[in-house]
Amino acid sequence: MTPKRPHVLIAGDGIAGCLIAWELHLRGCSFVVWSDGSPAASDVAAGMSNPVSFKRILPQWNARAQQDEARARYQTIESQIGTILWRDLPIVRIFANEEYAKCWVERAAGGHAVSPFIEVLEISSLHKSINAPFGAGLVPDAGWVNVIALTEASRLKWQQQGSWEQRPWTMADGCPQGFDVVVDCRGTGGAEDLAAFGLELRRNHGEVIRVKPAESWGERIVNNANWVLPLGDGTYRVGSTYHWGIHEPVCLEDTPRALIQGASNARKTPGEIECLEHLAGLRPTCFDRRPILGMISKDYPYYHACLGWGARGVTIGPTVARWTIEAMLGERDAVPDEVHPKRFPTFTEK
Ligand SMILES: Cc1cc2nc3c(=O)[nH]c(=O)nc-3n(C[C@H](O)[C@H](O)[C@H](O)COP(=O)(O)OP(=O)(O)OC[C@H]3O[C@@H](n4cnc5c(N)ncnc54)[C@H](O)[C@@H]3O)c2cc1C
Repeated sequence: MTPKRPHVLIAGDGIAGCLIAWELHLRGCSFVVWSDGSPAASDVAAGMSNPVSFKRILPQWNARAQQDEARARYQTIESQIGTILWRDLPIVRIFANEEYAKCWVERAAGGHAVSPFIEVLEISSLHKSINAPFGAGLVPDAGWVNVIALTEASRLKWQQQGSWEQRPWTMADGCPQGFDVVVDCRGTGGAEDLAAFGLELRRNHGEVIRVKPAESWGERIVNNANWVLPLGDGTYRVGSTYHWGIHEPVCLEDTPRALIQGASNARKTPGEIECLEHLAGLRPTCFDRRPILGMISKDYPYYHACLGWGARGVTIGPTVARWTIEAMLGERDAVPDEVHPKRFPTFTEK
């Protein structure tokens, strides 16, 4: 059984390791973070928090509750590290065709689960650069998290208090001496160990670029097939790609051209666009787009997973980190069924 005040080893220091550490820090629990320095999806994440799935115009999983908790948690961390992390940043969704526009307008009018999250935009209120022949909608309650500022400032804080080491951990190391619990936040680095329990953690390859257009594209996120996120300094993040067949975080040669083309489609006269940066990462993803949390096996009672944050780590993070720690400390019986490993048909420990 986990002691009431366990000493916790957190393996990994992407956004999962970071938010688990904050969850423990704010409760006054002791922990040490080990990271082996391998590439992190969190170093690539654009940081958007969007409560709406644009493909089918539906709310995301637990959209309202998770976003409210996320905003509050990032603001609490801001107050401790003295850096702005969360910015409210509405998203303009450009309609692809008449059918999509009709569906958006109907749902925005009310009576649908997504209605509280979406509005219809007057063409006159769009930024002058935007090309939207079928119209556009708005997600007013969206946001952006400065993930790099969050992970770097947190790492520095843990280093200053002697709670951070550059060191690998795998299941073969067991629960190292002096620790009571290991919380596995290794992103795709946890895939092999989870596979031993019949749990598949998939790697979803994604790329983003940072560009500087000749003229301003405005101060809202704009989404057509791609999205464009203003960084506030005249440059914009443009993304993202999604590939299942690439298992290393490699930058593909053709991607900047394709992303710039996609972003240009949303502008009347795109003009010259300079590509300043190109990044790639691997999203740790599960079959149902939900994370794997909590204790996995009675044979390894010290081991708690916090993996598989997928494409929405920024929004789901604060909630799922809290669930993981509440279950670990015995404040709840277990993590909710929707994130429990037993939902995997292949799980060997049911
Ligand atoms: C192109 C792209 C764009 C994205 N955009 C967004 C977005 O706009 N909004 C959003 O919410 N999400 C976005 N995501 C998803 C987001 O990046 C992930 O949900 C999140 O970063 C996952 O965080 P993590 O901490 O679980 O994993 P990671 O960030 O991958 O961190 C894993 C950590 O574990 C460490 N590690 C690995 N193996 C070991 C080991 N053996 N021992 C010790 N340490 C180890 C690594 O060094 C790293 O520190 C995007 C992802 C990509 C690729």
